[in-house]
Amino acid sequence: MLVTNGEERLRAFSQQHHQYKATLIHDRVLHVAGLGHSNAIAIKAETSIILVDTLDNVERASQLKQLINDTFHLPVRTIIYTHGHPDHRGGAGAFKDSVKEIIAFRALKNPPKYYQELSSLLNQRANYQFGYQLSDEEAISQGIGKREDFIHGHMEPLAPTTLYAEEEVTRTIDGITLKLVRAPGECDDEIFIWIEDMRILCCADNFYACWPNLYALRGTPYRDIATWVDSLDRMLAYPADYLLTGHMEMISGPEQIHEVLTNYRDAIDFVLKETLRLMKAGLTLNEIVENVKLPEKWQNCAYLQEYYGTVSWSVRAIYNGYVGWFDGNPTSLNMTPQALYHQELVSLIGKEKLTLRIQELLSQAHYQLACELADLLEDPHLKAQALRGLASQETSANGRHYYICQAQLLEND
Ligand SMILES: [Zn+2]
Repeated sequence: MLVTNGEERLRAFSQQHHQYKATLIHDRVLHVAGLGHSNAIAIKAETSIILVDTLDNVERASQLKQLINDTFHLPVRTIIYTHGHPDHRGGAGAFKDSVKEIIAFRALKNPPKYYQELSSLLNQRANYQFGYQLSDEEAISQGIGKREDFIHGHMEPLAPTTLYAEEEVTRTIDGITLKLVRAPGECDDEIFIWIEDMRILCCADNFYACWPNLYALRGTPYRDIATWVDSLDRMLAYPADYLLTGHMEMISGPEQIHEVLTNYRDAIDFVLKETLRLMKAGLTLNEIVENVKLPEKWQNCAYLQEYYGTVSWSVRAIYNGYVGWFDGNPTSLNMTPQALYHQELVSLIGKEKLTLRIQELLSQAHYQLACELADLLEDPHLKAQALRGLASQETSANGRHYYICQAQLLEND
């Protein structure tokens, strides 16, 4: 979302919500937030520790190991991965000497064939989205957590030794009974974990206190948002006293958890249903993007702010997920080659006039329009300035990183 003070808002949010905090629940469950980009949960069993997720790198996970040792004086024998993203698995190597079983769920839906052949493109886009090459000052954060660290740390994800294809599995591990429930959201292999005895719900990445990444700029196949809502419904069926998150702070108290999860679920469902309603009413993609806005009660919810995903990118993803690339405007069916179209407009307007207008827009902080006009001119210098301006207005860390990375490329050209 673009707002005048996007950068300041992202900075303030990150400072407030990405702090280190370890919380001990019932003397046997330790929720560790802010030590890495993602969180980890250590559960004290009879003779060992069950660890839910492992942080993003081995060095941070080694600090986690020390903390677990100081708290419980027991070794980690079991790791449960809540989903396949590397920022939750990269620290596993720190526990390789003691771990006996690594549990995960199998994804039931595969990406399109040859998807992995795009890995160089996907990695490049992931670099732009997460801003890995940016300085701390430029990047600020990764929206839902402090930055992954590949300078002081390295990833060593360990392969699962137990891989379930079931919808639900109940396991008693070293005296602790856990229910593992399939809950596709960000990932198709995503699960949540219910610990009945302590009324603890480990929700993985199906809730974190930001507008979710219903679409990831790095490029992913459609994340089925209706299924994501179903997963939140399944979570809501459990009367949790503690909601242990995969990123940022945990939430305590049954009423608070119910309210937060319900708002989160309803807001996502609203964007889905509203997009579908406007599609049915015959609006084009851009018209729908312009019209789908969260109602005020959710706009003001602290945990629905657009520091990670955004509503407008979600709308685009839904449109594309249901009817594909054609935006409904027949002009789009057979477009003039872009360079030719740009030349035509530039010759009509005049290069000088266009340049002056872009400069004026830049000086007035109308960066989006400046950026679009700079595309007509194919002027890297003006476009880089516009992208820098957009980065200063963007609340989403992902969007901010993408703008700055692209500006840097143009500046270094
Ligand atoms: Zn995550």
